[in-house]
Amino acid sequence: MSQQVTGPVGHYVDGEWIESGGDPFESVDPATGESLGEFHRGTPAEVERAVRAAEDAFPAWRALSYVDRAEHLWEVFHELRDRHEELGEIVTRECGKEISEGKADVTEAWHMVEWAAGNARHPHGDVVPSEIAEKDAYMRRKPRGVVGCITPWNFPVAIPFWHMAVALVEGNTVVWKPAEQTPWCGQVVAEMLDDTGVPDGVFNMVQGFGDAGNAIVEDDRVDTVLFTGSAEVGHSIADKLGSEPGREVALEMGGKNAIVVTEHADLDVAVHSAVMSAFKTTGQRCVSAERLIVHEDVHGEFKTRFVDLAEDVAVGDPLDESTFMGPVVDESQVEKFHEYNGLAREEGVDVLVDRAELDEGEIPDGSADGYWVGPFVYETEYDPELRCLQEEVFGPHVALIPYSGDIERAVEIHNDVPYGLAGAIVSENYRQLNYYRDHGEVGLAYANLPCIGAEVQLPFGGVKKSGKGAPSAREVIEAVTERTAWTLNNATDIE
Ligand code: NAD
Repeated sequence: MSQQVTGPVGHYVDGEWIESGGDPFESVDPATGESLGEFHRGTPAEVERAVRAAEDAFPAWRALSYVDRAEHLWEVFHELRDRHEELGEIVTRECGKEISEGKADVTEAWHMVEWAAGNARHPHGDVVPSEIAEKDAYMRRKPRGVVGCITPWNFPVAIPFWHMAVALVEGNTVVWKPAEQTPWCGQVVAEMLDDTGVPDGVFNMVQGFGDAGNAIVEDDRVDTVLFTGSAEVGHSIADKLGSEPGREVALEMGGKNAIVVTEHADLDVAVHSAVMSAFKTTGQRCVSAERLIVHEDVHGEFKTRFVDLAEDVAVGDPLDESTFMGPVVDESQVEKFHEYNGLAREEGVDVLVDRAELDEGEIPDGSADGYWVGPFVYETEYDPELRCLQEEVFGPHVALIPYSGDIERAVEIHNDVPYGLAGAIVSENYRQLNYYRDHGEVGLAYANLPCIGAEVQLPFGGVKKSGKGAPSAREVIEAVTERTAWTLNNATDIE
């Protein structure tokens, strides 16, 4: 092994790699704590330069046909496939998720690129009947202009393409800021787009932290902001842009996701779903489940089986294919995880599994400086006053909440959080499934499946505090285009 950061390290602006004047920062391998390479924080002036380049490039780019614009994306599609293994490893080394998930991140990226580029040859808009026989009436969409994309570290290749592939094919130009934890992935994606010969200024990438993201948000030449990340930052963006007419925003944020296991559940499915949803990606998926709401009739057996597996989950080197859970992404995630475990104890829960601090023998050799944690599982009666049941931890921190009564009660508990991103039900009962589908307050609902996974052709977004719009698939089209309702008179005389 090992790949290291190579090639130009800077921002990609107006078709060139530019050296940054911003302070240096490191990309750190979460498994070892070692540096993978040095990058520079984008400054507001560098963001301004990127926005100007994107604005200047917009007229010529929008004038191309959909099919011509999509050609650049098809090149990216082939490169993502050809370099699948290599890129999957870079994802894993930079954000710590185990290798099959690192590769799946790249697969999801090419699925999104395929969907967006394929759209270039599909019908766009709607023809609608007119009240007058001689009139044509239809709706067309046109690009908005400059789209700012701000993305998180946990899907460092897939999520950027959810935003950018659609924005570009629809005729917008882009300024993208990757997450500060995954600048290497940011660089590789920018190199790929550069290799396609995309015209100067159409795609721009500025590395950096929240101040660089904020400079994108504050620049009123950015017509649409697409954001995926924490609720705290997303809400601050919504507050800023909500009062500016003419600027669009689509936000995708966190959740306090739950799985409901009813008395009619197949427990094999329930336990599998719970383990996958709670511990895959070390609990750091936006759709990860942190609450398991289990009917009292099956709670005993479910608890025994889930706890056994939580005690056994293999934590280790994320590049090793037998690992189930890698490290968390950085020191601040370790601290947040321990803080919430402590809070849960203070709130009086009954701790069932405490592998939060791993034994020395569980940490891979030479990796003592990595960001290691293990599962923390507890049981508690439902109480809406408990903060540990209300706030997103973003780690393998899981509550088992028994309930009695019918599906209505389970869904009441499920919905009693400020968020509404994702949730699941495990049940063989048709009425219960339908009730959950109709009343579960989430944007992404799963039945008899783990509460994870995305299909790029479906919108991916939440309700309540979890989202506004969905910066993925068809709903990105809405956010990055404007609609014209067009009526055309075909009559030779006008009455
Ligand atoms: P984050 O909000 O801290 O950062 C996300 C991005 O926003 C980063 O690029 C960051 O630099 C930037 N940013 C930070 N402050 C900013 C500001 N003031 N203005 C503009 N940009 C700013 O989130 P994170 O820690 O990278 O990711 C974890 C969070 O993201 C979790 O809450 C998780 O649930 C959520 N998430 C949601 C989804 C989803 O699809 N719903 C997907 C992945 C992650």
